[in-house]
Amino acid sequence: MLVRLLPCAILLLAPAPAPAQQNVPFPGAIETQQSLHKLNQLGTVLMIAAHPDDEHTEVLAYFARGRFMRTAYLSLTRGEGGQNLIGPEQGPLLGIIRTQELLAARRIDGAEQFFTRAIDFGFTKTAAETLAKWGHDRILSDVVWVIRRYRPDVVILCFSGTPADGHGQHQVSALLGKEAFEASGDASRFPEQLKYVEPWRARRLVRANFDLGFLRGVTLPPGVTLPQFPPLPSAGSVDTGAYNPVLGYSYQELATMSRSMHYSQGTGATRRPGPGATTFGQVAGEPVSKDLFDGIDTTWNRLPGGSAVGAILDEAIRTFDMAHPGRSIAALAKARPLIAAISDPLARIKLADLDETIARCAGLWVEAEARQPEVSPGAKLSVTTTVLNRSNASVTLESGAAEGIWNEPLAVKRAALGYNQSATIPFEHTAPANQAYSQPYWLVKPPAGDVYQVDDRRLIGLADTPPVVEMRLKLTVDGAPIELVRPVENRYAPRAEGERVRLLAVVPAVAVNLPAKVAVFPNPAMRSVLVTVKANGANAAGELRLELPAGWNAEPKSRSFKMAAVGEEEQLAFEVTPPAGESTATMRAVASVNGRDTASGMDTIVYPHFPPQTLFPPSEVKLVRANIGVNAHKVGYIMGAGDEMPEALRQLGIEVTLLTQADLEQGDLSRFDAIVAGVRAYNVRADLKANQTRLMSYVANGGTYLVQYQNADPALSMGPYPFTVPGGNRYRITVEEAPVALPHPDSPLLQFPNRIVPHDFDGWIQERAVYVATEWDKRYETVLASHDPDEEPMAGGELWTRYGKGVYIFTAYAWFRQLPAGVPGAFRLFANLLSAK
Ligand SMILES: [Zn+2]
Repeated sequence: MLVRLLPCAILLLAPAPAPAQQNVPFPGAIETQQSLHKLNQLGTVLMIAAHPDDEHTEVLAYFARGRFMRTAYLSLTRGEGGQNLIGPEQGPLLGIIRTQELLAARRIDGAEQFFTRAIDFGFTKTAAETLAKWGHDRILSDVVWVIRRYRPDVVILCFSGTPADGHGQHQVSALLGKEAFEASGDASRFPEQLKYVEPWRARRLVRANFDLGFLRGVTLPPGVTLPQFPPLPSAGSVDTGAYNPVLGYSYQELATMSRSMHYSQGTGATRRPGPGATTFGQVAGEPVSKDLFDGIDTTWNRLPGGSAVGAILDEAIRTFDMAHPGRSIAALAKARPLIAAISDPLARIKLADLDETIARCAGLWVEAEARQPEVSPGAKLSVTTTVLNRSNASVTLESGAAEGIWNEPLAVKRAALGYNQSATIPFEHTAPANQAYSQPYWLVKPPAGDVYQVDDRRLIGLADTPPVVEMRLKLTVDGAPIELVRPVENRYAPRAEGERVRLLAVVPAVAVNLPAKVAVFPNPAMRSVLVTVKANGANAAGELRLELPAGWNAEPKSRSFKMAAVGEEEQLAFEVTPPAGESTATMRAVASVNGRDTASGMDTIVYPHFPPQTLFPPSEVKLVRANIGVNAHKVGYIMGAGDEMPEALRQLGIEVTLLTQADLEQGDLSRFDAIVAGVRAYNVRADLKANQTRLMSYVANGGTYLVQYQNADPALSMGPYPFTVPGGNRYRITVEEAPVALPHPDSPLLQFPNRIVPHDFDGWIQERAVYVATEWDKRYETVLASHDPDEEPMAGGELWTRYGKGVYIFTAYAWFRQLPAGVPGAFRLFANLLSAK
């Protein structure tokens, strides 16, 4: 029954659409030889973990580049909750960066990449919190879906599913991996998927063990220990230290290069040639005696009618000539009809791979280039598709079609192409007026809690958004009919970088950008809100209006704009009046151009290690009307690893000055009502450590000094009296709803100028506190006590003392998350700290 359904119904995962000429580490004959080997190898491996950079990259490189297998990494999340060492992007923007970093890594190690809809909501100690936020069945269904689409023989987990894994999301990756291994083969589980895929049972499930070979040369940060997984029966090992003489690297070296693509995580490292191995433990399925593929036929014999294909490809590999790859075309042409006749999803992937291999053998250059990188709905777009024959093969361009926002045949003049001869196909069209913008598919709808909402099931699992439009070309190469698909992209060359490639994006006629995500109204006074309108096309004119909920008011009701040139911007000011009482609301800025409303901004993320990424955040601001008193008017801020606190404090009308090294060394600190050390400032600023004595005399003379969370460093002295911050995940309070007790309810820090009430601890995001103190001098007094479920109360998250005429406060609570997110209670608590006297 199912076999009959195969040709139309089975949906398989295609590799992410990467720009064609970008970042190919092994071009030319090496790549051609790799793809030839890969055609003849029918094994498939899927690795599962929770985050970008959890994966055993050396194992992926070993199977993809050494054993020529289809190899993929399923990361449950896009790593939105991690840190960002290269820029200000957080949350979904960081998820986009880390998605692209994984894709850049995969181009080096040769594997493919998938995700589920789960969002990395930050560190958690338990699988229970993780599953409560994600929904067990929802994310299990995504893992099952990826297994059914990718159809792996072997599934490799990176974690054990026990508290030994540390992070709760790591534990869940193994727990769901084990369940999905069973559920994917059971037609009664997630039957709604069977419209597109068949049940699939992988042959075995193993766990990769951590060993020091994997971390050689890496110094673990204080508080971090290697996971000690519960033991499992051995499932053999792979020699990841093996040198591949064709590629010129060992798999471990490839892994280091691939892992170094995680710029945002600071994982750059030097290559270390030499021995190395990864060992595996058996979790489920058929036992292994030596190799993960023991007893699994990875030749063409596994498909009905495949043995003839295997024989042809064996011969093509044996006779492959690096200097004359075109000589392999004849054999590939012979294999093509045999593969086309096999009714199996894997055969269809191999057929597309075969066509690409023939194109490589013939040195074909095929691209679809848009004249401009962006197009707006209703605007014209020019694309030139070029086919260039760079070999002596006989190449004929037969026909072509656009697929995507346009679906129609290309005006191809059938042409035979001699050596270094090209054919070009012009394509000029107007983008549909109602065309959706090129938002990453997982961000089209707002997330539901900590899970993305994706309406089109076929997109779930994909690493990236399918291209706006692709060109499908039919050619004949030495008599073999082949089909090649190329995304429409734009090649350009910044002078200092050289050539770069980006995919065509559909963008709104104007982008509506708001300067801040949050506007705080600490009293009932009117405030000015600025909105920037940017033209993505020439002669953009229209009206901008603010949409406000009842009780809020904006003047004027709308403003008109008119911009002549592409890229021109206009700033429009509105006076917003809040209601008298407390209220939290969302304001939308909407531009109306030619009858179409646009309520999105536009952000382009540009870094050197992946193609530019465009996205369209909603042009919305969270309005917060809360009574927040503050008695500090001038605040000095010592920026550390990077946080958005200064902007948040300015929302209260505070004048915030970022303190430089010169300020710390010689500036007049006494002009500040309070000074604040930013997140990890003591870890990244030698000038702060060097001027600790000056800061302490600032306090002694009547100043207020606040230190936010810092990484553990035994040599640090951050206050007037000793306290200990051991660091490590045990000393975080990761549940943002964790109850907070007040050991000294009469503390001035809880009374003045804002009287703190239980409600002020509501609506916090991501976590309560990071790296609390465990021991402190008795001259400190505690303020807040909290703890994760099933743990002992921890009162060292906030310590304060009077010192001389001033006040010193250490506070590990996650203000750097709450204030930029506009949490009213956190503003009131923090305003009290600044106002302490
Ligand atoms: Zn992780």
